Amino acid sequence: MLKLDAIEMREIRLPLKQPFVTASGVQDCRRILLLEISARTGETAWSECVAQETPHYSPETIDTAWFAIREWFVPALKGHDIHAPSDILIPLRVFRGHRMAKAALEMACWNLEAQRTDTSLATLLGGTQRRVPAGIAIGMQPEESMLVERVQDSLGQGYRNVKIKIGPGADVRCVEAIRSGIGADVPLSVDANASYTLADIELLRTLDTYGLTMIEQPLAQDDLVRHAALQAQLSTPVCLDESITGPDRVEDMVRLRSGRVVNVKPGRVGGLSAAISIHNVCRKSRLDAWVGGMLETGIGRAYNVALASLPGFTLPGDLSPSSRYWACDIVQPEWTMSPDGFVEAPWDRTGLGVEVDRSRIDDLTCRLERLVW
Ligand code: MG
Repeated sequence: MLKLDAIEMREIRLPLKQPFVTASGVQDCRRILLLEISARTGETAWSECVAQETPHYSPETIDTAWFAIREWFVPALKGHDIHAPSDILIPLRVFRGHRMAKAALEMACWNLEAQRTDTSLATLLGGTQRRVPAGIAIGMQPEESMLVERVQDSLGQGYRNVKIKIGPGADVRCVEAIRSGIGADVPLSVDANASYTLADIELLRTLDTYGLTMIEQPLAQDDLVRHAALQAQLSTPVCLDESITGPDRVEDMVRLRSGRVVNVKPGRVGGLSAAISIHNVCRKSRLDAWVGGMLETGIGRAYNVALASLPGFTLPGDLSPSSRYWACDIVQPEWTMSPDGFVEAPWDRTGLGVEVDRSRIDDLTCRLERLVW
């Protein structure tokens, strides 16, 4: 049983090596909420809340997560025993939404449990893959020639899949430039972050002719019905990201045939327990699944790599090495990728399998609050 003692919330600011551009905006620095939870038995666990600075990807932000944890979640958890990591969510069921804030708490409990049982997080989650294939997400570029160059460069680095961000005005021409410049058979996906409607069907049908691995979240985040209508007209698999907020939504997706691939992000679905349940539904229903990324630091990356080692993750995860985003990560060793595009799940190390660089985090901290259970 886990007996929690205290929680420290910190905000750090980590500049990205290059600005990341999507259909919803530009990011050049990440404001990141880190949690450090201590147990009465002496273990401490770091976790990362993936909420962004603004409510573009989801309604949550780093500031709403900070508020929810301090004002509602920690007071509600006082006096509750935690027998299994997901138990921390039981007293939080009365609070709707705020999945990324809840996930940060729940994921830390998995880490504490791994330490308590002296096992790796990957083993504790049920992982079986020791080497996890990695894909890369490339943001929008000012010119198509730059995009082609970046895709070429990524393939040269060994990435097993390349995903480009698309949006109205930066879609078919980008895909055409890559296909004609690099080749018709390189593994390529597109992610629209919900920026189209069924009125764009002709454009989406054109994208369907390029042999893409998937078209990710073309339509609105809360709409499974229109995604089903779209999937019926496309041979390219539709992948859902923003639409999948929990295991029930994947079951609905299966029933409605809203797509054939799921991008699983533990933060988006409320934690690792929900992510594992979604993985299980995908496996049973023969949907492809992969672990997505949210521009995490090496702490969030450690959780994603452990999750991606489960057997039902059939496509490369968004698991770029630390050096892709950050001049210097906050973990040691930094995450790296082999020349053939695989990340090693650290099976032989307890917990996350990486050391958190506390002094670097101290240097980067701009807000700190300690809450006692
Ligand atoms: Mg996406």
